[in-house]
Amino acid sequence: MVTDTYRHKGMRQKLVQGLKKKGILDESILEAMMSLPRHFFLDKAFEDWAYQDKAFPIDCDQTISQPYTVAYQTMLLELKKGEKVLEIGTGSGYQAAILHLLGARVFSIERHQKLYEQTTEILKKHGFDHIRTYHGDGYEGLEKMAPFDKILLTAAATEIPQKLVEQLKSGGKMVLPLGDLDIQKMVRITKTANGSIQKEVFDDFVFVPFVRGVE
Ligand code: SAH
Repeated sequence: MVTDTYRHKGMRQKLVQGLKKKGILDESILEAMMSLPRHFFLDKAFEDWAYQDKAFPIDCDQTISQPYTVAYQTMLLELKKGEKVLEIGTGSGYQAAILHLLGARVFSIERHQKLYEQTTEILKKHGFDHIRTYHGDGYEGLEKMAPFDKILLTAAATEIPQKLVEQLKSGGKMVLPLGDLDIQKMVRITKTANGSIQKEVFDDFVFVPFVRGVE
């Protein structure tokens, strides 16, 4: 059983202080990141590094996002308690757990069967049974649970995925890294009442690619 110790808490405090210095000022996000043991979501081999502000490898050649990136995307979502959120790219489950801690009703899709199974298990083990995980292709969204207040894409898209826009509520927002494979802009889409979209463009990031189909 993986435990959370004072040593981990100390490292986490430093991580959160670092995030503040980098411009993450939303107290509820900082609190969620302070309370969530990131080492629960990483291989034991990375335990000592879990609180560095870096992305790390997970299974299936994927990555757990950098804490700064998790905080940044979460901030742009402007979550309110009880909102229905679809995350595309469950990966390690860390981002999904942060959304849950902020009071969202979280639905998360992963294309890799192995990651889906492992992460569903990890989330359960640590008491995050309310997060609903799915094995599937995020390009399709999650029609049966739509519409969503917010959609968060945690893999790099080369264009705005139309099916996901369709699954947003009117007034809903989607945050996604959009651009080339080597670098993307963080983008926020807001769906207006007449179904058109407004687009805001933020900083540069690098994500693993948003890939079609399942494995
Ligand atoms: N949110 C994750 C980040 C994982 S990296 C975390 O906190 O750890 C992005 C994830 O998106 C990878 O696990 C990758 O397999 C997944 N992914 C890529 N394309 C996808 C698709 N079409 N549908 C679902 N998941 C996808």
